[in-house]
Amino acid sequence: MQGPQISIVAPLYNETESFRHLVTRLNAVMDASSLAIEIVLIDDGSVDDTATLMQQLALSDARYQCIFLSRNYGHQIALTAGMAVAVGTEAIFIIDGDLQDPPELLSDFYKKYCEGYDVVYAVRKKRKESWIKRTAYSTFYRFMRSISYVDIPLDSGDFSLVSRRVVDIINQMPEESRFVRGMRSWIGFKQIGIEYERDARLAGESKYSFKMLRKLAYNGIFNFSEYPIKVVTKLGIVAIGISILYFVQTLVKKLFFSSVPQGFTAILFVIILFGGVQLIALGMIGEYVLRIFFQTKGRPLYIIKEIIREKQRQDSPK
Ligand code: UDP
Ligand code: MG
Repeated sequence: MQGPQISIVAPLYNETESFRHLVTRLNAVMDASSLAIEIVLIDDGSVDDTATLMQQLALSDARYQCIFLSRNYGHQIALTAGMAVAVGTEAIFIIDGDLQDPPELLSDFYKKYCEGYDVVYAVRKKRKESWIKRTAYSTFYRFMRSISYVDIPLDSGDFSLVSRRVVDIINQMPEESRFVRGMRSWIGFKQIGIEYERDARLAGESKYSFKMLRKLAYNGIFNFSEYPIKVVTKLGIVAIGISILYFVQTLVKKLFFSSVPQGFTAILFVIILFGGVQLIALGMIGEYVLRIFFQTKGRPLYIIKEIIREKQRQDSPK
């Protein structure tokens, strides 16, 4: 058999509840398609039965390649591992393992790929999630777009079809704090969005805690924008401007009206305000330094405990 044309990549972290449905739907997609498809599932250090289910599946169905990471590394890294292992010669279709991104859309995405687009990304028309989450996401994407030096499309996540040449470039990008949708935009080529309705999670809870979401947002901001640094400089300039004005005003008052400045409260206010501003500024610089720190360690992004794939099974003695 020739190698697969398309790899469908899905990271999984404690997804036992939806696993069976995921496999059923992926099988249906493969059966209905005339393309040669492989599925790459990544176990991101699950602590439930996900890994066992994946092992059984990979051993019984040659279309599935399963990767097991040595611990939980987070969604973006798990995805990175999957992209590195996937061998699809034409493109890679990235979905979430919780069925929020319908795999059935592959044919629509592939059509666009055939029209010459290197990246076909999904744009969420409607999110079936709580309004707090929806507002937070929407605000973040708009803020990110306004400050980023890369043109990151609004309301698009990692759900996308990415051509082989773009995947090869992403695989060569060694950045440690990864924001795949930003890296994808940075690469360029012809990119296009397709609107879809993001389904609610089929089962279980979101595996992204508030802390992880904040980390992802920070990675987006500090990896794709120099705005925080620039804004600190601007704040400094504004502060100096205000202090000069205040100084002139005090001088005028003293010289012409011989009134004593009402110092104490104002001084206290200014000290506290700019103490805070300086701490924020330090923190922002710290975010960049932190990224340099982790990057210079040059550690591997992830460690693969085991891969079960067709080739290995063919190689192993009968
Ligand atoms: N995921 C992962 N590692 C993690 C957290 C999540 O591989 O540390 C997977 C998860 O199993 C799911 C996908 O990444 O398939 C998206 O995660 P989730 O559904 O929790 O995020 P949300 O859709 O709520 O943004
Ligand atoms: Mg989800």
